[in-house]
Amino acid sequence: MQIFSPIHQVHFTPLNEVFVKRDDLIDPYISGNKWRKLKYILADVKAKGKTHLVTFGGAYSNHLVATAAAAARNNLTATAFVRGENVTNEMLLICRLFGMNLIFTDREQYKNKQALFDTHFGSAQEAYFIDEGGASAAAVLGCAEVIEELPTHFDHIFCAAGTGTTAAGLLKGINAQSLATQLHVVPVLKGGSFIKDEILTYENNTTKLTLHTDYHFGGYAKTTPELLQFIKKFTAETGMLIDPVYTAKMFYALTDLTQKGHFKKDVKILAIHTGGLLGILGMQDQLNAVLR
Ligand SMILES: *Cc1c(COP(=O)(O)O)cnc(C)c1O
Repeated sequence: MQIFSPIHQVHFTPLNEVFVKRDDLIDPYISGNKWRKLKYILADVKAKGKTHLVTFGGAYSNHLVATAAAAARNNLTATAFVRGENVTNEMLLICRLFGMNLIFTDREQYKNKQALFDTHFGSAQEAYFIDEGGASAAAVLGCAEVIEELPTHFDHIFCAAGTGTTAAGLLKGINAQSLATQLHVVPVLKGGSFIKDEILTYENNTTKLTLHTDYHFGGYAKTTPELLQFIKKFTAETGMLIDPVYTAKMFYALTDLTQKGHFKKDVKILAIHTGGLLGILGMQDQLNAVLR
């Protein structure tokens, strides 16, 4: 099944005319790029007759929520190895409600995912290994479909990157159609130039790729008062929620580059809203502080 998420035009003062591919609207729990990534993974699970999804993530992982919801909807069971000590939070609560079994794993053991899988599920025929964040060639294929859905030409496409799998898929889609579209990738981690190597493992033509590595705001899941103020202003002005970990950094980068005159006046720009809005729940204190 292919879902064509809508494209909305956004009115935000420094951005003249920006279009947003609303993958956040595909599903509230199997959200955005996580839905794209799981699509062909789930097809493979069914083709191989597996019934138990085994995956990995941090305590605020959008991928865990997506996998838990996808398992419940597809009549599968799921286990997640959660990085770090035993905690409770809103996202893990949702995972549990969907029936996911959580195994908290210390950081040292967590590093070797295959060993964890082999130890716990090595002899379980029904178990299916899904890497952290869903990273895989199947995930890249699913993300490439975003490009097939576009009804018109865009000169520039923006997306946020954690592992770079989504960006690799978008680039694959752009290259497959030989589009003259430039892909702008905003890593949300410090030292994000590694994203290019990650993309190269899936797609070797990177002529259409531009990395903007200066918008990490201190690193993964880190924020600054400036970013939090941006979220407040952007959400109130556009009526569209963004999350502090991924999409806020991407929209900030797009806004900043636009203000600095990076783009010609009448170019068409599309931002991919990759979803992940439950990430807001992980930053309530920081966000409340700027809303006072
Ligand atoms: C997971 C996630 C990303 C990062 O995707 P990668 O494929 O790992 O680069 C971006 N945006 C949101 C909202 C996410 O949840």
